[in-house]
Amino acid sequence: MSPVLDIAGLVKTFGGLTATDHVSLTVDTGEIHALIGPNGAGKSTLINQICGEIIPNAGQIHLAGRDVTRLPPAGRVALGLGRTFQITSLLDDMTVRENLGLAIQAREGGNFRIFDRAAKRNEVWDEADSVLAGSALSARAGVKVADLAHGEKKQLELLMALSQRPRVLLLDEPMAGLGHVESQQMIEALNAARGECAMLLVEHDMEAVFALADRISVLVYGRIIAAGTAEEIRANPAVREAYLGE
Ligand code: ADP
Ligand code: MG
Repeated sequence: MSPVLDIAGLVKTFGGLTATDHVSLTVDTGEIHALIGPNGAGKSTLINQICGEIIPNAGQIHLAGRDVTRLPPAGRVALGLGRTFQITSLLDDMTVRENLGLAIQAREGGNFRIFDRAAKRNEVWDEADSVLAGSALSARAGVKVADLAHGEKKQLELLMALSQRPRVLLLDEPMAGLGHVESQQMIEALNAARGECAMLLVEHDMEAVFALADRISVLVYGRIIAAGTAEEIRANPAVREAYLGE
C-alpha cells in the first residue's frame, strides 16, 4: 500500500541556513511516525512545509497519492490533512460539548462559530456525546473551556482535530506542558485514535515517543540522521550521541 503521506527530498533554506536538508519520510495508513530532534533541528519548518504554510525550495510532498507540494493549506485539509486545533481557537465561554459540536459541524462545511444548520443539530450532538463518553473528558462535557485544566484543553483539541476525520494528523508536541497523569491520558487518547488516522508526531517526551511510535525519524541540523523502530533508534550510536545525550 502506498503511504498516506510521502515527503521526498524537502529542502528549505532561510538565507544561508538550510533548515531542512533533503528530508524524506513516509507515513503509512494506520501508522504513528514520530519525528524527534533537538531544538532548531527543523521540525517546525518541516511541519509547516507539510501544512503548506511554507513552500520548499526543492522536493515533493504527496498526500493520499496527490502531489500537494504547491497546494495552499486549505486544499491539503480538504484532502485529509489534519492538525490539532490550537488552544487559542477554543471558545472559552462555551462548554466542552459545544466546542466539539462546532468542530463536528465545521467538518460538514458549517461555520465554526455559529450553529447555523438546525437540521443537522441532533446528529452533531449525538456524535459529540458519543465521542465524549469514550474520552478522558466524559465527566466534563458541560464545563466551560475557561474552567478546564491545561491537559483537558489538550484532550479537547485532539478530539476536535479527530472529529474532522483526517487521513493523517500532524501533532506538534501534544505532551508539552502536561503533568505525569495528563501525559498518560494523552498517550492513551493517541493510542485509542490509532485506528482512525495516521499520525506524524513531533514530540520531545521520549517516554511518549517510545510508547506510541511505530517508526521514529531523527532530525538533527536539518537532516534525518536515523530512522527505524523504537528498538533500532534506541540502539543507534549516532542517535545516542547526537540526541539522547549519551
Ligand atoms: P525546531 O522546530 O526543530 O526547533 P525550527 O524548524 O523551528 O526547528 O528551526 C530550524 C532552524 O531554522 C533554526 O535554526 C531556526 O532558527 C531557523 N528558522 C526557522 N524559521 C525561520 C525563519 N522564518 N527565518 C529564519 N530562520 C528560521
Ligand atoms: Mg519547533
